[in-house]
Amino acid sequence: MLKVDHLTTAYRTLEGNVIAVEDVDFEIQDNEIFGIAGESGCGKSTLLKSLYDIIQYPLVVEKGQVILSGQKNGQPFAYRTGEIQKSWWQNIAYVPQAAMSVLNPISKLRNQFLDSLPMQRRNRKTERELLEHVSAFLEGLNLSPDVLEAYPFQLSGGMKQRVIIALATFLDPQFILADEPTTALDVVVQRGILTMLTDYQKSHHNSLVIVSHDLGVHYQITDRIAIMYSGKLVELCPTDEMFTAAKHPYTQMLIDALPRVGDRRERVGIEGTPPSLRNPPPGCRFAPRCRYASDVCRRFVPEFREISPGHFAACHLLNNPTKGVI
Ligand code: SF4
Repeated sequence: MLKVDHLTTAYRTLEGNVIAVEDVDFEIQDNEIFGIAGESGCGKSTLLKSLYDIIQYPLVVEKGQVILSGQKNGQPFAYRTGEIQKSWWQNIAYVPQAAMSVLNPISKLRNQFLDSLPMQRRNRKTERELLEHVSAFLEGLNLSPDVLEAYPFQLSGGMKQRVIIALATFLDPQFILADEPTTALDVVVQRGILTMLTDYQKSHHNSLVIVSHDLGVHYQITDRIAIMYSGKLVELCPTDEMFTAAKHPYTQMLIDALPRVGDRRERVGIEGTPPSLRNPPPGCRFAPRCRYASDVCRRFVPEFREISPGHFAACHLLNNPTKGVI
């Protein structure tokens, strides 16, 4: 399980700390595909980095922690923020945004796979045996072992992304975190990448955490989805429920703006822009853009709470539905 325990992270700047993720609290279960969505700059990539424990200056943890726990090969493990790096690749792996530029450009992919193996495993087998193991693994992902003899620059963007995902899954981690894994790829390649990720997750029963601004991606593959706005979670529930019965006005507006086959009504975007994280408004951060905003919304921060089993949201209207229209 990956537990995010009231986590607040901030970027240190000369003008003071800018809080990018504020009091985020949820759990990702084993064997689930969990999506994190929201507009650019809402903190979703910073949250993913925090899950993976890439806490490097100027990013700092102000409060809370992430706890990664489970069992591997019959052995229990538990790591907290500051320790999770010890279990990188083995228990948790990360496919970063712009992953295509993270491969070593001057090394053949065979070396990059072999280097990712722990030293004990490398010492137990010959290079030929190890390469046979890597080849069998790639074939299991429907990738040709021929890529092992290639340099990254010889591969297309989609193929490089597949190789990165293969590297991330090679040691069979329980959690795979993917930051915008389909951005900048054409729709056919996007489909192939999503199929690769979900096939792997289904066959290995590990958990996949996908950050994407594209709600279509979440609709296709995730089991549960969390919506972020201005550094905070505003809604979290099973994906089907999110698309049929969203409760938070922001989520409702995001979903209303999606194109639908056969629906010829004009799509209405969300007016305005998210507030600056440097100086967010008091009360509900969505109030300046919300058609239901009241004085209460502008003065008091809505609590992120469970409004029905497994469905969490932060909106004052949900505390007092008789006053609202939701
Ligand atoms: Fe809108 Fe108020 Fe709910 Fe915020 S708390 S989303 S401003 S109704």
